[in-house]
Amino acid sequence: MYTGRFAPSPTGPLHFGSLVAAVASYLEAKKHQGRWLVRMEDVDKPREVKGAADTILHQLEDFGFEWDGAVVYQSQRNDIYATALKQLNAQQLIYPCTCTRKEIADSSHQIGIDGMIYPRTCLNHPLKSNAAMALRIRTDNRECSFTDAIQGTITQYLATQVGDFILKRADGLFAYQLAVVADDAQQEVTHIVRGADLLDSTPRQIYLQQCLGYQTPHYAHVPVASNAAGEKLSKQTLASALDEANANYQLFHALSFLGQNPPAEIKNATLSEVWRWAFTYWQLSQAPKTRSLHLSD
Ligand SMILES: [Zn+2]
Repeated sequence: MYTGRFAPSPTGPLHFGSLVAAVASYLEAKKHQGRWLVRMEDVDKPREVKGAADTILHQLEDFGFEWDGAVVYQSQRNDIYATALKQLNAQQLIYPCTCTRKEIADSSHQIGIDGMIYPRTCLNHPLKSNAAMALRIRTDNRECSFTDAIQGTITQYLATQVGDFILKRADGLFAYQLAVVADDAQQEVTHIVRGADLLDSTPRQIYLQQCLGYQTPHYAHVPVASNAAGEKLSKQTLASALDEANANYQLFHALSFLGQNPPAEIKNATLSEVWRWAFTYWQLSQAPKTRSLHLSD
């Protein structure tokens, strides 16, 4: 069965950029008579803002989203992540790393897709004793390739373009890449529709899926909303929170952003009328084929 999901991080209330991802994943699931799950990605507890998870759920309700099943919280699923890590460790893919950020910056000579490429210091040299230990996965140079329903074919070679990445941090927390892959598999997610800021993470997630023997879901990455300076809308760029009082108008705006061309006459329609239009006319293929799109008012 088609299973989609929306997986916000509770680092603040939803803003327009997160609404766009929610709308796209929701409409695509509805179009396929599928399930739509909500998962709180609160694995990074120190970054969580108290109360934000509840605020997000209330916002989703006020916008008229209806999710299937109970909301899943990553912070309660360490067992699942530990099991996946154990499985990778049994394949000798995992090694400890005691390098600090500064040591990596000083020893790495290659900048990859997502920062410095880790030069495998701890794979080739004895570890420092008494240092906090992160766990990395050994990458290889297989072609990690997938066809995104919106962005086309994406190919990466992890060993040379990303490097061995962290699955468990030195502070003991599981890394996002491992958590998201384990959750999607455990929740039997078949279709992932999310923001294109995660496009470059996808080959790492596919590599983990392959190592763990999981199925790779279908992916569609919608453009992220950016401000006039080209920065992604986020708490950091002070994107304003959504105003539920204008939910109908903001839903209309999100549909426009997603290339759906909602007719002007529903601009002032009620929220349920806008949803009704969207359920009828939603076409993922209309979404702009770009990673980022300037938000015009
Ligand atoms: Zn190291």
